[in-house]
Amino acid sequence: MKLLQNVMKQVMIRDPNQPEFHQAVKEVLESLEPVAERNPQWVQAGIFERLVEPDRQIIFSVPWVDDNGMVQVNRGFRVQFNSVIGPYKGGIRFHPSVYLGTIKFLGFEQILKNSLTGLPIGGGKGGSDFDPKGKSDGEIMRFCQNFMRELYRHIGENTDIPAGDIGVGAREIGYLYGMYKKIKNDFTGVLTGKGLTWGGSLVRNEATGYGLCYFMEEAMKSIKGKSFEGTTVVISGSGNVATHAAEKAQQLGGKVVTLSDSSGYIYDDEGIKLDTVKQIKQVDRKRISEYVKYHPNAKYVEGASDIWSVKCDIALPCATQNELDGQAAKELIANGCFAVGEGANMPTTPEAVEVFLGNGVVLAPAKAANAGGVATSGLEMSQNSMRYSWTFEEVDAKLKDIMVSIYRNTSNAAKEYGHENNLVVGANIAGFLKVGNAMYEQGV
Ligand code: NDP
Repeated sequence: MKLLQNVMKQVMIRDPNQPEFHQAVKEVLESLEPVAERNPQWVQAGIFERLVEPDRQIIFSVPWVDDNGMVQVNRGFRVQFNSVIGPYKGGIRFHPSVYLGTIKFLGFEQILKNSLTGLPIGGGKGGSDFDPKGKSDGEIMRFCQNFMRELYRHIGENTDIPAGDIGVGAREIGYLYGMYKKIKNDFTGVLTGKGLTWGGSLVRNEATGYGLCYFMEEAMKSIKGKSFEGTTVVISGSGNVATHAAEKAQQLGGKVVTLSDSSGYIYDDEGIKLDTVKQIKQVDRKRISEYVKYHPNAKYVEGASDIWSVKCDIALPCATQNELDGQAAKELIANGCFAVGEGANMPTTPEAVEVFLGNGVVLAPAKAANAGGVATSGLEMSQNSMRYSWTFEEVDAKLKDIMVSIYRNTSNAAKEYGHENNLVVGANIAGFLKVGNAMYEQGV
């Protein structure tokens, strides 16, 4: 019998209604079977049971007043998953679909991702079912302030350091940090992604998307002898990760032809003009469909999922979980796609993963490929501790080194455990080994 099957069963019995969490845990436990076989002392010490159970799950009420003077109530979450190698760290997501299972899947992934960065950071995640779309700045501010009014008591620069994620960008981090400081009277690096004049790090904003491309460049070169140069790239999403992945892919010589939001996608055969996208999304805060008003030769297609039918060499899903399924994976391969890099967390379904791996596509899993954001957050924490700031070039060079080293560790672990070029298995094993060892050494 497989050693870790009972761990999975227990997860499903304890938390039956959390399919995304099950999906993330199942993939990791399957990869870790050979690790369990080689380390019976870890099985005996319950390391795997403990890995899948968060240290702490905090759920709180967030009442706030809307622009009509009505009181609205949302639900806030913070899951502190594992802190054996450093303080809990992970983003905050504001999206109406958020429930405990979303935050648990993201927090669980974060443990291994943070370990892969090589920095001393544990795993956690937070969020709310608050929908920022269509809200005024005042409403966003009042919501963030009330969210922090409860969260502040659970976080700290040596305890738990949140950051952004879907729906939480520079504006929200500003309001959250402002409230934390008012309550605590303490100017510390308790959040990352801060503004550059009050403790933020250069490159943090760009880091996840840039890091994804640095990882892909290394993976494609090593496995296929290829690079972004001269390729056509399809990217989903049009938020922080997607726009910066597009920017770096273009700098590396790729032609990015799509971006999307949850309503549909734009296709620009001449290559997406990122200045226009930044104006629409970051300044005007409008929908991606506006793009065709500026560039009438481009096309807007209603419905986000059809994006994977666009012919490309490289696909970078950068929107949300399970956005690319088995059928889409087959379509991409039929159209000649040879590499897929997960900018979003768990964007490919298990069926799609199987299709890609079975057809020799370079598949870069999120916990390795999108770790550049949290790695640069780790660099922001270091700069805050030193009361010092590195230049853009210094942080960018460190980010690049980290992404290359994540690729090497991932690739080596895959090879050592008999799955050469399977970066999914490699990332799970390489991320886990340090955590498992620390858990064992620190006792029960
Ligand atoms: P943003 O909020 O900046 O952007 C999210 C983008 O994804 C928007 O274009 C949004 O469109 C789209 N999107 C969201 N939900 C859906 C959906 N159900 N279907 C289709 N499109 C959707 O978030 P980020 O760019 O920060 O995050 C994107 C992904 O990257 C997430 O999976 C996140 O966890 C991951 N990530 C982010 C990091 C970071 O540093 N920010 C670090 C590591 C991972 P719409 O406006 O219509 O909702």
